[in-house]
Formats: sequence, structure tokens, C-alpha cells
Amino acid sequence: MIKPLRQILTALVVTLSASAHVAAQSILRDAETEAFFRQVSTPIYKAAGLTPQSVHMYLLGDKSINAFVTGGQNIFFHSGLILAADDVDEFMGVLAHETCHIACGHRISRGEAASTAGAFSILSLVLGAAAIAMGGGEAGIGILTAGQSVAQGQFLAYTRGQESEADLAGARYLEAVGISPSGMIRFFDKLRDQEILAQIRQDPYVRSHPLNRTRIQQLQQTASNSRYFNTPPNTFLNERFKRLQAKLGGYLDTPRQTLRKYPVSDTSIAARYARVYAYNKALEWDLALDEADALIKAEPNNPYFHEIKGQILFENGRVNESIPVFEEAVRLAPREPLIATALGQALVSFEDSGRMEQALPILKAATRQDSTNTFAWFNLAKAYSWLDRQPEANLATAERFYSGGAAAQALTHARRALDGFDTGTPEWIRAQDILIAAEEAASRQQRRGRRRRITTSFGQKPAINE
Ligand SMILES: [Zn+2]
Repeated sequence: MIKPLRQILTALVVTLSASAHVAAQSILRDAETEAFFRQVSTPIYKAAGLTPQSVHMYLLGDKSINAFVTGGQNIFFHSGLILAADDVDEFMGVLAHETCHIACGHRISRGEAASTAGAFSILSLVLGAAAIAMGGGEAGIGILTAGQSVAQGQFLAYTRGQESEADLAGARYLEAVGISPSGMIRFFDKLRDQEILAQIRQDPYVRSHPLNRTRIQQLQQTASNSRYFNTPPNTFLNERFKRLQAKLGGYLDTPRQTLRKYPVSDTSIAARYARVYAYNKALEWDLALDEADALIKAEPNNPYFHEIKGQILFENGRVNESIPVFEEAVRLAPREPLIATALGQALVSFEDSGRMEQALPILKAATRQDSTNTFAWFNLAKAYSWLDRQPEANLATAERFYSGGAAAQALTHARRALDGFDTGTPEWIRAQDILIAAEEAASRQQRRGRRRRITTSFGQKPAINE
């Protein structure tokens, strides 16, 4: 019952990717990774004078080394960059550098989309317009399709002047939070070897953030004055970073690669974590569960270890057993909407009225905490629909498309929802709000589509960027 659903979803991802103008990338969503991002970035944003809540950080599943800013205040990291960092300080160096590109007002994308976003969610520029609820599959890491502006953002280069400014400001932010700038230097130095490579063989980060000897020297000079130059990376954060790398590697690499990197003889938490994913991928579920149990034994209060165990059980049809495991994860991390969504999804999959009733408050809370959680909206709509609460199901579906940036579909469902509610109720008002915002966005998308068709018919370059 669960497997076919996953197959359908996978098929959808493939179709959507194939039809996109620019090669589609996946945004990976994972509760633990996002919690880590939030924790380490907040002090850096504050040091840069930014409001932490308005900056968003995303992880893209892409092997190449890159990080970039697009659509106003969104920072993207390729998984390749996370995996290429030797420690958390190297990652923090890149984060501090990218933060300046926002705080220092380095606008590089032509027609930067933020100004035209209007009332429609800025996320529609970040998420693919057709990004429908994806996620939950493959042991807990959710997948969304990244939007066009993301694909464009990563190929635009900063000037050398902007790069130097970002280095120096980045070093200042690190100083403010007590982190050594040496990680930043080490990471950029690693990339400098690529300068002599042909462009095609360079990582995109080298192309978009031009490196040269002078830049590194300048950074070294400033950095050597830092009080924290010889301070080693924070042990706790570094361990968490290593776990994320293990998890990400296990999720993205082949089981064979993972087991080579993390052999069975390695009983560290990070190694076990990586092997959970490798075994799950290799369909060795008992081995995956053994490793998950070993993780839980080592840290019984770690919500993410319960989450991964629940996910393995769920994905292998042991839904009944997954429920108490997910419940434990939610109890340990009540403010993690992605974990709550996993529990909600498991409850919904029973197709039983009692379980649907149980899922409702859980999924509602998850969407309240994270309105961009398209997968929670998807399951919420399913639960309402099963319980014959059609107007609410329509509203949840409208929300799902709205948060995913699919204006036309959001419009259709908001209109349907509106018909089912009494005028003036909170639900009616919300449906009305989505309707208005989606109407504007839909006509904008239509105009853009028309213009693109006209220009292409005259054999000019497609106008993608207005
Ligand atoms: Zn840069």
C-alpha cells in the first residue's frame, strides 16, 4: 500500500524534472539538518545585522561544490559542499561569506525576483512552480523540486571586489561569534587548486566566486589578527556536522561507497548513521534496524534516531510498529514539524477514520509551524477528505499548491474551498487571501509564458528573466 505511493511520487519527480526549462534540482528537507542550520546561522546573521527569521537556508542534492544566494534572502548549499568540508569551521567560513552577499547588498541576478513576488509567497521563486508534495521517502529526507530562479542564481558570478568584501565581512562575523577564520581560509585554499582547471572541470563555486592569490592573501592578513585564529572547532558542533555529513553521504552515495567510507569496524555514531542509510538503500532492513537500535541505545533521548527507525519501519510496511517510534521522536522534539509530519503520514496511511482523526491535530500543528511543508498539507488534505470534510480538504490542497508556488492549481482549489465555507469565517477569509494572491501570480505567470512564446517564435533567446 505504501510502496506504490512512493513509486507514483518518484515517477512524478522524474516527469517534472524532464519538463523543466532549466535542469531541475532537488531541495532536500531533513529535520536534523535544518535544526543544525538554524542553530549555527542565527548568530552569524545577527552579527551581520540581518533578521535571522527572514533568511532561509536550503540544501540542494548536487555533488558539485557550490553555495549561492538567490531570490533575496535565500542561501543554498550543495550537498557537495557540505561533504567537501573537513570540519564545521570550513562550512561556517562559507556561510559567513555568503551571509555578506545578502547583508552587503550584492545583487547579481538580473531582474532579481524578490521585487516582483508581491503577495504570492517568495517560496514560489525558490520551489518549482509544479513542486507537488514530495517527501517522506527513502528514510526521512524529503525532496522538493527547486525552482527556476534557483537554477539561474547559481551561475551568476560576483565581482572580485564583492568577493573581497564578503571575505572580510565574513571574517568579521566569525570574530563576533568566536569562530576561527582559519576554516574559511582552508576551504578557499582547497578550491584555489581548481583555478588552473578548464572551466568545465571547475566546481561552480569557483566560477561564481572568483578566487585568486591576492584575495586569499588579503584574507590571511586580516585573519591573522583574529583572537580566535588558533581556536579549534567547537567539539559539539563539529560532531553534529560529522553526523550530518554521514547521513547525507549515506543518503546520496551508493551503499558500496558508504560502506567503504564507514566500514563495519567503525562503531562511531557517524559511521552507524551512514550505514543505516546504506543498508536501507541496499534493502537490508534488518541490518538498518540493528544500526538504528544501536544509535538509540547510545543516545536514547536523540529524537532523530527514533525518527530514522520509525521511517525504516514505515517504509517497509511495518506501519503499526512505526507509530510508537515516531511518537517518541515527536515527544522528544515537539517543535520539529518534519518529524510530526512523518507521524501524521504514518497515521493517514492506515486509511482508518480513528487514525485520521488522530492525525488531524498533528498535521495542523505541523503546518502552523512550517507553512511551506507541502507534504504535511498533502496528508492533511487526505485526512479531511477521508473524513468527508471536503471544504477543509480543498483549503489544505490550496495551501499545498500555494506554498509550492503553483498558482493556477492554488487558484482552482481556493475557489472550490470558498464555496464550501460560510462567508466571514476564518477559513473563508484564508481561502479568499489565497485566491487573490494566486490570481495575481497566475496572471503574472501567464504573461510571462506568453512573452516567452512570442520571443522564441522570432528565434530570439527565450526571455526567462523578467
Ligand atoms: Zn562570494
